[in-house]
Amino acid sequence: MVDAAIQLRPLPRWPSRKPLAYALWGAVGLHCALLLALGQRAAAASRLVMAVIPLLAAVCTEWRAQRLAERERTGWRWLSLALVLWAGGQLLEALLGGPPTASSLTVVDAADLFYIAAAFPVFLAVTGSRDQEKIRASFYLNSAQIGLALSLAFFRLYRMPMSAAQAAKAMMAVAAGECLLLAFAAVLRLASWSTLEERRRTRLVCVALWLYLSIELWMSYASWQWHLRAGTLLDILWGVPFLFSGWQALRLPVDTMPTEIALRRNRLRLLFQNFGPLLVSAGIFLLAVSIAREHPLIALSAIFLLLLIQGVQGGLVQMSYRSGREMLLSRERELEIANLALERLALEDPLTGIANRRHFNSALDESWKRAARQQQPVTILMIDLDYFKAINDAHGHPHGDQCLLKVAQVLSEFAGRAGDLLARYGGEEFVLLLPNTSLGGAMTVAERMRYAIYSQKVANGASPFDKCLTISIGIGACDPKPGAEPGALLRAADQALYEAKGLGRNRICARAC
Ligand code: GH3
Ligand code: MG
Ligand code: MG
Repeated sequence: MVDAAIQLRPLPRWPSRKPLAYALWGAVGLHCALLLALGQRAAAASRLVMAVIPLLAAVCTEWRAQRLAERERTGWRWLSLALVLWAGGQLLEALLGGPPTASSLTVVDAADLFYIAAAFPVFLAVTGSRDQEKIRASFYLNSAQIGLALSLAFFRLYRMPMSAAQAAKAMMAVAAGECLLLAFAAVLRLASWSTLEERRRTRLVCVALWLYLSIELWMSYASWQWHLRAGTLLDILWGVPFLFSGWQALRLPVDTMPTEIALRRNRLRLLFQNFGPLLVSAGIFLLAVSIAREHPLIALSAIFLLLLIQGVQGGLVQMSYRSGREMLLSRERELEIANLALERLALEDPLTGIANRRHFNSALDESWKRAARQQQPVTILMIDLDYFKAINDAHGHPHGDQCLLKVAQVLSEFAGRAGDLLARYGGEEFVLLLPNTSLGGAMTVAERMRYAIYSQKVANGASPFDKCLTISIGIGACDPKPGAEPGALLRAADQALYEAKGLGRNRICARAC
């Protein structure tokens, strides 16, 4: 099955790149032509075109978002929203008449709030970390921070006793400060990107923000210093960051498959990622401080709310890490249990629950080596059920299985010492490993075993021994020499068993090697 995340997305029915590119460059050309042809008289029309350029750029970023994998879209959508908000500010200024100066920041009107609000979607686009994106509540907390910042900006600009010049300066400080914080946040994010698309987007935002900041500072300075008025060819500069954003959104390569670059998450990278949101908190703090004298209660409440938001956000991240860790731990436990079960399965006989042949072989190997080192004997008992086939034939295999289980239970009583091991060697053959046991000792055990099975009185019509199930036992006993293999011991026991069968069954034979 193909993973849903890497399925190729069908291309949406959006205009192709070309008409959008023509429209974008056409708007910039129209702006130039207007300003060249009409000069100052084109001021109002110029503002209108200045609203169209970011709107077109927003269409371009949305065009790109449409073509990307789901998780890469959000960042571009925030940028689209920021561009629409900025265009809204321009549109309002075109309708209200706007300031006559080249800088649009000289009069505090409703449009300015749009410019300030436009920064916040950009903030979400450049600061939201991939870990945080997974936490839904984190989005609401970020939105709460934005609401807080906007309210404070509103008080700073519209609810302070100020002269027109002071108001213009305040607006300038708020707008430039905001842009500067964003530009730094974008640079920090650029240092901690995790996918190629994220790097493209952040690089674009970074360049656009630094362009915007330089143009804004230059235009404001020119407006005050040289009384530069709206309607000169310099108005074109306002469109540059938007032209750049829209054009890059169209031009940059589009990966329809998400490309996660497995970057090592070193500590510095994590620090950078968490530093971005802190810049916004710093901005909110500065805004609160700037209105503290006139509106102390509001400033203090804002700082308290900021702390609350940060606290909750920290708690949420901690909770998400904790649940992630708990999930990992429970997976680890499950794995451990599965491993133990696998290990048991690999060493256990499924019918009788005693050791299987593989387990016996490795135990024999170990005992053999130890015995060779310590110059001790190793003895094994090879046990075969007599006329067992007849039980199966008379009562069926399930009954035969029950008999095998019973025999295994009785025989396992004889593996009493540490190191003794009873195993199912084949179909109805068992083997008992008795390390450090002499042939005489093994004979005693074997005799007790034989009698124990006989006294169970398991019916076997084919048996000449009171029609009861009996066993034959072949004992192999060795004093292992260093370097020798345990194969000789197995052969000796096998031959002894063969001999016991040949002599009439229900008996014990032994061979030393
Ligand atoms: P003898 O050993 O005395 O020569 O006669 P036997 O009838 O026991 O002969 P043999 O050892 O050659 O036969 C083994 C029989 O054991 C064949 C098969 O039907 C039965 N057997 C082997 N494994 C199983 C098992 O897992 N379950 C059951 N029910 N029967 C098994
Ligand atoms: Mg048999
Ligand atoms: Mg057999």
